This record gives sequence, C-alpha cells and structure tokens, in this order.
Amino acid sequence: MHGSRRNNVVESFFSTGGSSGGNNNSSSSDDDALLREVRERANGIYDFLVYSRRFLHQHPELMYKEEITSAYVQKVLGDLDIQFTTGWGKNTKQNRISGSGGYGIVADIGTGGPPCVLLRADMDALPILERTEGVNEFKSQNDGKMHACGHDGHTTMLLGAANLLKSMENSINGTVRLMFQPAEEGGAGGKRMREEGVLTMDPVVKHAFGLHLWPTIPSGSVASRSGALLAAFEQFEILVSGVGGHAAMPHQTIDPIVAASTIVMNLQTIISRNLSPLESGVCSVTKFEAGDAYNVIPHSALLRGTIRALSTETLLSLKDRVLHVVETTAAMHGCNVTIEWAPDFYPPTVNDPLLFESFSKYVGGMVAQDSKLTNIEPTMGAEDFAFLAEHVPSTFFLLGQGSGKSPDSSFGLHHPHFAIDESVLPQGVELHVNVALRALRKLADDEN
Ligand SMILES: [Zn+2]
Ligand SMILES: [Zn+2]
Repeated sequence: MHGSRRNNVVESFFSTGGSSGGNNNSSSSDDDALLREVRERANGIYDFLVYSRRFLHQHPELMYKEEITSAYVQKVLGDLDIQFTTGWGKNTKQNRISGSGGYGIVADIGTGGPPCVLLRADMDALPILERTEGVNEFKSQNDGKMHACGHDGHTTMLLGAANLLKSMENSINGTVRLMFQPAEEGGAGGKRMREEGVLTMDPVVKHAFGLHLWPTIPSGSVASRSGALLAAFEQFEILVSGVGGHAAMPHQTIDPIVAASTIVMNLQTIISRNLSPLESGVCSVTKFEAGDAYNVIPHSALLRGTIRALSTETLLSLKDRVLHVVETTAAMHGCNVTIEWAPDFYPPTVNDPLLFESFSKYVGGMVAQDSKLTNIEPTMGAEDFAFLAEHVPSTFFLLGQGSGKSPDSSFGLHHPHFAIDESVLPQGVELHVNVALRALRKLADDEN
C-alpha cells in the first residue's frame, strides 16, 4: 500500500464530494475517517518532528542567510522522494538588507494539475541571544541568533505534512504546493516569492494556508478570525539635522534634540487626533539617539519607530500624516530632516471572510482539541503571509502552544526565553494536511 502511494481513506474521501464547503454539521463518515487517518499518521512521525525541530533550533539563521536550514529541508524532501525547486526568495533589497537570499524551496505534491492549494512555512530566525532554560541538549549553536518566533517548528510541521501527503500522493485529487520561505522577519521573503511566481505558476494557486505557533493561547487550541488577523506595518528612520555647538550658547545653534523631542510628541497626536476612534492604529517611536556630552549640543538626532494599522488604506494615511508632522515640525525648528521607510511595507494579514466562514473555521475546529475554533481578536504584529492573502482567498491559523511546563512555553514570541511546546507539532501537521485535502475537495465541488 505504502509503495503505491495510494490511500483508501483519502480515495474514498475524494470520491464522496464535500457537504457544502467545509461545513461539517452533518459530518460524513468519510470526513471522520480522514480526520482519524491523518491524526494517526501525524502522531506516528512524532520522533521525526522532534528531531527535525531540534536540529533546526540548533542552527538558527537570519533572513536571506538560511543556507543550512534550506539544505536540511532539501535533504528531507529528497529522502521522501519529493521533487522541488530552490533559488526562491532572492533578496532584491541588498542595499538595505544583507544576504543574497534565494534559499526558498517549492514542492508540488499530487497530480501536478489543478486545483492547487498552497501551504506555507517560514524558515528564518532572529538576532536574539537565547536564554531559554531546560533545552541544553538542543540550544542555539549560533550565539546571538535564535529561533524565538517558532519558525523551526513551522518548517518542521510543513515537512511533516510533506511526509504524509507524499505517502498518499496518488489518491490526492489536485496539487498541494509547499512553500518554504526565507526572510519572514521584516525581509518580505514572501513578497519576493510571490513576485517570482509561487502563486501564479502552473497549476495556479486558488487558496493559501499558513499557521503560527501562538504562546498566549493554550496548547491544543486553534485560533483565528474572519477578516484582518494581523496588522499592516511600516517602519521609519528619521534623521533630524541642526547646527551643533556649545551648550552654553544655544542661540548660536539649531538644536536637533529639541526638534526631535517635539517630533516625538507631535507624532503622538496622529493616533489620538487623526485616526477615527473606531479604527485601530499604532505609532511608536522606539529609538532616540543624539549627542554624547554634557556641554555639547549635537549636530543631529536619530529616531526610529513603527506604524501599524488593520488596513493598508489606514496605514498609508498614517504614513502621510507622519511625513507631514515630521517635515513641518522640523521646519518649525529650522532643522533639516530625512525619513527612510522600510524596504517593503507589509499589508495586513486578512482572512477571506467567505472562505473563513464557509470552510476554514470548521476545519480548524476539527483539528482543535476542544473541537471548535477559538475566535481571537486581531493583534498588531505583522506577517509575511499577508503577501499571499492579498492575492488569493486565504486563511492564517494560530496554533496554541502556551501550556508546556518544561520548558515553560508561555513566553511571548521574540522573547529570549521563548520555547515551543513540542507536543503540538503533530497537531500542526494535522492542520496542514486536513486544510489542504479538504480545500482541494471543496474546489472540485465548486467546479461541479
Ligand atoms: Zn517573528
Ligand atoms: Zn513568526
């Protein structure tokens, strides 16, 4: 059976056609059988999942430098006899971000024809010194770099899905495209892969799905929401230039510190005075650097920060206001000013409401331990998955993992003590495989 890459349960599932989208109110026996089959197989590869996640955790690599990670993914796919292409996600902004990129990988499993759905995982780590306790045997071996956002788990869960899907490949009706992307942490690697054609090459992707480990909800739960789940994001660096001089003779200088301080305060009026009280937005200045003496007024001051919103439209209007406030405030003080924005701004991560209500929330609920999808408020973090969801109806899920005790897995994302609750890794595999197979059946039904 295994050698033939056919699976009775999957075959029977595809032959029955879905009950109106993913709505499983009257869940058929084929639906249940598929759920059980996938669960059993996902649990069956637990040792591989732990091994894989720990290997990746020991070798964290920053955006556009995911060389060892990519080689590992290629090795696993090769061992599973899965064809893939690499060279994806080249860094087109090398003047702003170092590293050549090109470590992304794409693999198609199934018939190679339509319909096609995409599953995505991210591979990059963060410039954080790991302080997680109780993980000595697989602690980061690259000092100052750490998988503190769970991308080692994400890559592993998609490799697990690759394993399951390949074993049933000849029973799948359509194509599941696996996307291993570089540079999620602000490098817009997902956007680069979109520009390179990951959605539009043959067969064209109809839906994309992704997930993120989420420490603020308990292990076993699956959460998401209809509409905007994560924020649109832009960042700024502002250089305010004046005329330095002796602190005792301020009238002979143009003080950039006073100007920059006024800019910081004026920026605070954008959210409170320009944004509708019914909308969400953030404007945070996170760095203020100027001067280094008691008695010298410096020549310049540097500010960095971020703006966020739940729609691209709002983000762009906030950006306009930031520009105006910064320029006019600097001019009022007689200073010159330059603003540099992020190499790419991020749109919000929006779950297509129709797909979510008619399909994704049921599949997420099937996989959740409490048998229902947890509805969650949006958060102002940003996600590369947004670049896919902007183009095809998509869903991004949050996979609960906050209940692990040793190590404590409740620390937030990007925290130096962040840890994964490895017991949820098979559940992530289940979510990937269920969502892919059920979406393919739904698409086939929609055709008929
Ligand atoms: Zn992150
Ligand atoms: Zn992340």
